[in-house]
Amino acid sequence: MAIPKKSENKHQPLVHTGDAARDLLARWGFDPNNVAILPDRHPQYRECARHGRYPISMVDERDAIRYMSPVCPVCAAEQASRRLMESAAIPKRYVDCGFDNYVVDVPGQQTALNVCRDYADYFEEHARKGSCLVICGNPGTGKNHLASAIAHVVLAKGHSVLQVTAYDIIARIRQTWQRGIGNSTELEVIRGFAEVGLLIIDEVGKTFGSDGERVHLFEVIDHRYRDLKPTLILSNESIGGVEKYLGPAAFDRLCQNGGLLLFDWQSHRRGREYKSDTAACLRGEL
Ligand SMILES: [Zn+2]
Repeated sequence: MAIPKKSENKHQPLVHTGDAARDLLARWGFDPNNVAILPDRHPQYRECARHGRYPISMVDERDAIRYMSPVCPVCAAEQASRRLMESAAIPKRYVDCGFDNYVVDVPGQQTALNVCRDYADYFEEHARKGSCLVICGNPGTGKNHLASAIAHVVLAKGHSVLQVTAYDIIARIRQTWQRGIGNSTELEVIRGFAEVGLLIIDEVGKTFGSDGERVHLFEVIDHRYRDLKPTLILSNESIGGVEKYLGPAAFDRLCQNGGLLLFDWQSHRRGREYKSDTAACLRGEL
């Protein structure tokens, strides 16, 4: 807020609201120099040129005044998101993976290709509903190939895409606990993950799966769910395994308006023997 110049103000009576409050406090026996105990001065706000007013202080449930970081939360989330994007995008191994070079040998792979291509082609519609996609299957069944193909199309449509492992998310959040490393808070990092147009979380279920890890992943999934942001989950676990790992609350959020794909054919990395030929699209509207 611009401070009016003295000359502009000279005909107006000066109002010292602070002085009046100080007098009152002094009469009640408070230290009048302790501005922080004046609850009428909180929350205090600052102005972001792009996002408007944001609070820099609050009065908590015990009437104590808490100061927040004097940085616009939306700007901070955008910056965190940019930092994530620097390390982002599609792993080198899958850079050349598109829908056109996905090899279909069994009917299940055709179903998988159709569902993923539809997800990418109609991404705007899926994004509006926050539709997620959970892809489960053994290593080498082409989950990453199709996820990268989706990423290419969604990126080309001008959306931001971030592909990370579940471990990356957990590690990035925990990094904020160490003082002096980076300058993002835990919430800023979570919001950073929540900002991305399409978040692809790979290797869900590969880490130990402690309650703490589950909480971090839930926070990211829940933030995105509330903002109607689509998330793509890749896992070598069974569908039940993913649900167990993420917890039912996070899993329900992913399944609402979303789809589950089970890649249950044999790994192409182990040759071309196919045990099964179905891709089950088990739930959802996809
Ligand atoms: Zn801002």
